[in-house]
Amino acid sequence: PKPSSSVKLVLLGEAAVGKSSLVLRFVNDDFQENKEPTIGAWSHRPSNFTLTLISAAFLTQKCNLPTRTIKFEIWDTAGQERFASLAPMYYRNAQSALVVYDITKPSSLTKAKHWVAELQRQASPGIVIALVGNKLDLAGPANEESGVTDTEEEETQGDEENRRAISTQEAKAYAEEEGLLFYETSAKTGENVQTVFEAIANAIPES
Ligand code: GDP
Ligand code: MG
Repeated sequence: PKPSSSVKLVLLGEAAVGKSSLVLRFVNDDFQENKEPTIGAWSHRPSNFTLTLISAAFLTQKCNLPTRTIKFEIWDTAGQERFASLAPMYYRNAQSALVVYDITKPSSLTKAKHWVAELQRQASPGIVIALVGNKLDLAGPANEESGVTDTEEEETQGDEENRRAISTQEAKAYAEEEGLLFYETSAKTGENVQTVFEAIANAIPES
């Protein structure tokens, strides 16, 4: 049998960029429109201290490579946006991270850059980081690299809304500077989702 190794993967990024949806697509090949957010955090304030509980979903999924199998242990976090000081708990010992932003929301790329900087500063050295621009389906046909050359079809496609606010070029240039893997995905259509996880698996050194 092929050698198999477990790899801890954490998801980081602004709320609602689609972290949980990417995991759901990768693990179950499913998507839920307007899905409820992962149960976030509860704070309880007794007399003189604050107790905070934050939930994280834990899922596993295998990725079969030609020479080995990678078993991802996926930590999908919720609430870390509000409780950034607890984030190190999640990414401790992580060998890989998906830092996700929403291509229609510039603030989410700013947030993603903060996470990348924090991981580079605090996480395990050699961690494989992928920057992922999600909601590619909202970019509209004009942004798709399709092989369609039929001009009549292109005219009608012009009616569809393009909500992209961050260019591929801009994010890619940043990713290259920082040595990150980079993909644009859609959890909704499934585009590139498998590819991201495979690229991470391939980038994990054999040990
Ligand atoms: P999280 O807070 O980062 O875990 O984000 P969620 O996975 O909960 O997704 C937030 C919202 O965005 C939900 O309503 C999802 O249905 C939606 N969503 C997630 N991924 C995509 C995507 O690729 N395309 C579109 N159009 N919507 C998405
Ligand atoms: Mg979530």
